[in-house]
Amino acid sequence: MKNLLVMKFGGTSMGSAERMRVAAALITREKKPVAVVVSAMSKVTDLLLDTLHRAELGDRAGVTANIQKLRARHTETIHELGLQTEAANAVEALVTEFERISKGVLMLGERPPRSVDEAIAIGEKLSSEILAHYIRQQGRPAQAVSGSDVIVTDAVFGNASPLMEPTRARCAERLLPLLEQDIIPIVTGFNGATSDGRPTTLGRGGSDFSASILAAALDAEELWIWTDVDGIMTADPRLVPDVAVLDEVTYAEAAELAYNGAKILHPRTLAPLVEKQIPVWSKNSFAPEKPGTKIVTHFDEPKGARAVTSMSNVALISMEPANAVLSGTRLMARALDALALANVEILVFTSSSYRQSFCFLIRKHDVNAAVEALELNLSLELSHGYLKPLEVDENVGLLAVVGEGMRGTPGLAGRVFTAISREQVNIIAIAQGSSELTIGIVVRLDHLDKAVRAVHQECELGKLASAALSEP
Ligand code: ASP
Ligand code: MG
Repeated sequence: MKNLLVMKFGGTSMGSAERMRVAAALITREKKPVAVVVSAMSKVTDLLLDTLHRAELGDRAGVTANIQKLRARHTETIHELGLQTEAANAVEALVTEFERISKGVLMLGERPPRSVDEAIAIGEKLSSEILAHYIRQQGRPAQAVSGSDVIVTDAVFGNASPLMEPTRARCAERLLPLLEQDIIPIVTGFNGATSDGRPTTLGRGGSDFSASILAAALDAEELWIWTDVDGIMTADPRLVPDVAVLDEVTYAEAAELAYNGAKILHPRTLAPLVEKQIPVWSKNSFAPEKPGTKIVTHFDEPKGARAVTSMSNVALISMEPANAVLSGTRLMARALDALALANVEILVFTSSSYRQSFCFLIRKHDVNAAVEALELNLSLELSHGYLKPLEVDENVGLLAVVGEGMRGTPGLAGRVFTAISREQVNIIAIAQGSSELTIGIVVRLDHLDKAVRAVHQECELGKLASAALSEP
């Protein structure tokens, strides 16, 4: 749809009556048609998941207390917004629905993935109902829409992927008529459904992804993602004092930053937009007058290193053949295959050719599954001593320097390594793909923060953006 803006509001931007008022104002001030995607109010998804977990363990009192909290948070919000019975009824119906599923889990003593997805989507349903009621109270037509009515996905519960063709058809059917009548759709982020109607979710933080799926399906002009920071920064401001807000980054840079731990966007957000080249803005709903960061398809002039990120919840697994009997390449293939089957995502993979030892970095919460899968798959080699025991090192962190313009910039990697070693930080593993978009460096965990500061300073990232971060 021509002129259409898709706006997504994250959990903090929906976190209270006050924040919802601001969101409503940001939506209704636009002259262009707007389709809205919302997250659950901040911390609500955690609360829902915790409730289901307690239900599985049979903790009835905990379940009741959590549901009371859920009810109170949303009821208070509607009162503060001055909303009437109709909104209260909508909230009560959703809380009751969640209660029904939780009781089912209590009774079963287990959490079927499909019921979990149905239950945790209720956080977004609550926030979208409240916002839609509030916008109507302000005199503008708005309607809450469930993501399950417009986003068609595969059946991977908890981490589903969209099927774009049927999604496009559903959007044309459900959302376009609303937009054409000047009714603002307030769509729940995070959830979808299979083509035969089974509820799914898109993974934690998936509302960004919902918004980009809808922007692509509706041929939006732009996607605006409202969060609680000024835009995409050159580093985590809690680690580095002089971070800058980047005025522009490319899709590829933003995706690399997200995959390497920057909490800016759900990592899969940009994929649906590539084909249509829809620009994305990351903006601060707490400071809407600031420009934010524009995510664009490409730069005419490459811009060197752009940002440095880090991840601390990771572990390094190293493998080494005990002798040359085993083909190192075949061993790698089997290790990768085992990890893929166990659904373990590899963040960094490096090998040295001589002894064919290799290592890979994974998320800490995947360590048990990874070790189990590897030991099972390679049990013969391990028990006969062809392969040395796996080494798991959890005392590591990953630093990543990202920037499209690093490609073909001689000396940049050298400067990064020198800056890190100047701080007496030992580099454990290095990974740089031939796209030269990202340099990944594994260091000791307790050296991670100072390595990030050293790289940020060496690459002069603080001077990058015109709009340095100003205090509110
Ligand atoms: N509410 C969901 C979560 O907390 C999705 C989102 O906020 O993007 O993961
Ligand atoms: Mg979020």
